[in-house]
Amino acid sequence: MATPLQPKSAPAMQVPLLDLKLQYEPLAREIQEAIGRVCASQHFILGPQVKELEGAIASYSQCRFGIGVSSGTDALLLALMALGIGPGDEVITSPFTFFATAGTIARAGARPVFCDIDAATFNLSPAAVEAFVAGQCEMRAGVLTNKRTGGRVRALMPVHLYGQVADMDPLMAIARRGSLKVIEDAAQAIGAADAQGRRACSFGDIGCLSFFPTKNLGAFGDAGLCVANDASLAERMEVLRVHGGKPKYYHALIGGNFRIDELQAAVLNIKLRHLDAWSAARQRNAAFYDAAFARAQLGAAVRTPVANPGGRHIYNQYVIRARDRDALRAHLAGAGVGTEIYYPVPLHLQQCFAYLGGSAGDCPESERAAHETLALPIFPELRETQLQYVVDTVAAYYRR
Ligand SMILES: *Cc1c(COP(=O)(O)O)cnc(C)c1O
Repeated sequence: MATPLQPKSAPAMQVPLLDLKLQYEPLAREIQEAIGRVCASQHFILGPQVKELEGAIASYSQCRFGIGVSSGTDALLLALMALGIGPGDEVITSPFTFFATAGTIARAGARPVFCDIDAATFNLSPAAVEAFVAGQCEMRAGVLTNKRTGGRVRALMPVHLYGQVADMDPLMAIARRGSLKVIEDAAQAIGAADAQGRRACSFGDIGCLSFFPTKNLGAFGDAGLCVANDASLAERMEVLRVHGGKPKYYHALIGGNFRIDELQAAVLNIKLRHLDAWSAARQRNAAFYDAAFARAQLGAAVRTPVANPGGRHIYNQYVIRARDRDALRAHLAGAGVGTEIYYPVPLHLQQCFAYLGGSAGDCPESERAAHETLALPIFPELRETQLQYVVDTVAAYYRR
């Protein structure tokens, strides 16, 4: 780490990247009572709290069915399993995302195909997907086939990164032409919407949500949920969630234990009532940053995130592009400001995916984003003085 600029004086302020205690404190009693009721009932597995959560999150996401699962990662894996995606299949996705997006594709036995991102939004670029489909694939017996590998391209897995919906209309058009299933990785985007008000998870066949504690709606541990509109697909996911047994102990399918805990559902049912207010507070914080960075006139040194006009960006992360990103990050750490890099290595360059044959230069925008981006504190309870302090500290770095 580079030496902070003011190493001798203690930071004037502490601005952590996230402080969940501030969210918990006002809800502590209500949540503890809900946990107490589950304990009193001793109904820990797939009980009434899970049912309530599944219905509420499905309708919040403009979908018909919800299936509560053990994590966002398991939501993605379950979605792939339910769509029958496995060995010999390929799934197109973004390399600029959390590992689980592609990790689950590989674990299902399929091959991730990485297409580059859009430079403005960091989301999967429809032009890059189209270039792959038009340039490297052909229809063989009604199945989009990768001419180089011979693999069947079965699905598209866009990610709604940082809380903003990907450019879904052109992506859905490509999927329709190629008969591709669409799994939305909405782990960071619960309640995000495009300019027509269509919410994350409502476009594709299956939407996958995470309730990891750092997401906008966070559980007290791991939890996730799949949403879908097709009744038989939803039923398939329900069966696969309990080892594929239906009726119990009779297995037509090989599933797994992908259940969400009743205790987590009880916590989430309470927190869900506050989600809109929290997302609105994140939007206010983002607007404050946008204006304060504009006033600071840092030119090309800092570029604030681009929100699609008319859309609903829920700012799970507020991510800037910064010149000398790593040195800026060290400077901020020295001044008491927490930051994170989401994500430092694009997935096509991860060691574990070397067998896919990816190399530097394959996805230049993803590689550039991995070098330039920095997430700043954006959580709902931040005070304006803290936000201004973050901007002032960034500005001080470039004016030194
Ligand atoms: C958090 C996250 C996941 C995985 O969710 P978990 O609940 O942590 O398993 C998947 N994809 C993206 C984009 C995420 O941010």
